Amino acid sequence: MLRSEELAKLEREIVSCRHCPRLVAWREEVARQRRASLKDETYWGRPVPGFGDPEASVVVFGLAPAAHGANRTGRVFTGDRSGDFLFAALYRAGFASKPISRHRDDGLRLRGLWISAAVRCAPPQNKPTPEERDACLSYAARELELLDAKVVVCLGAFAWDAALRLLGTRPKPKFAHGAEYEAGPFTILGCYHPSQQNTFTGVLTPEMLNTVLARAAELSGESAPEDNDLVS
Ligand code: SF4
Repeated sequence: MLRSEELAKLEREIVSCRHCPRLVAWREEVARQRRASLKDETYWGRPVPGFGDPEASVVVFGLAPAAHGANRTGRVFTGDRSGDFLFAALYRAGFASKPISRHRDDGLRLRGLWISAAVRCAPPQNKPTPEERDACLSYAARELELLDAKVVVCLGAFAWDAALRLLGTRPKPKFAHGAEYEAGPFTILGCYHPSQQNTFTGVLTPEMLNTVLARAAELSGESAPEDNDLVS
């Protein structure tokens, strides 16, 4: 089976998962209630699969879907300010065909990069339990097995710890923005999460994210074109 077919098969499995009762209840409750300003939208309300290029050599690894972001749109890091900040940077770095990701059918493509998360269902207060994290990490492990990635960019300490946990790294090195760590066939890069809390306060600037993505491209051998030739 082709890698893209294996990933599509895994996606179907993820999207139908109901393993964690608390998260299933929360994701579906949020999808029913909706935010007042989004009342006309149909929320996804299911686990959010990985998204990107099956031939990716860079994986961007996040925490979990946002209740009114990816849990609404069905695409990871899509539909909230964190995603807007991230996709703008991916576009600048030549990894994305458009500077904004709007929904699953907007035609956006990624080149050389895959976006994944430790947990695939939106958790209350963005805080999955250790049991929920460990249950869901098996999906990320299978993605990493299927992809031929060399670099994993971890957005935030939770993603950093989760990535090192699934790679069986002991002792786990401490998270820091710009940290690099060799873990088996992967280089793990630390990057502050593009949450509003970080981007509105200047803890994470566009330039800082540019630098991390440029380093990921360098380590992975991905070219970083000056002009984005993915633009459609
Ligand atoms: S968090 Fe992961 S393991 Fe738990 S229900 Fe969602 S997809 Fe399944």
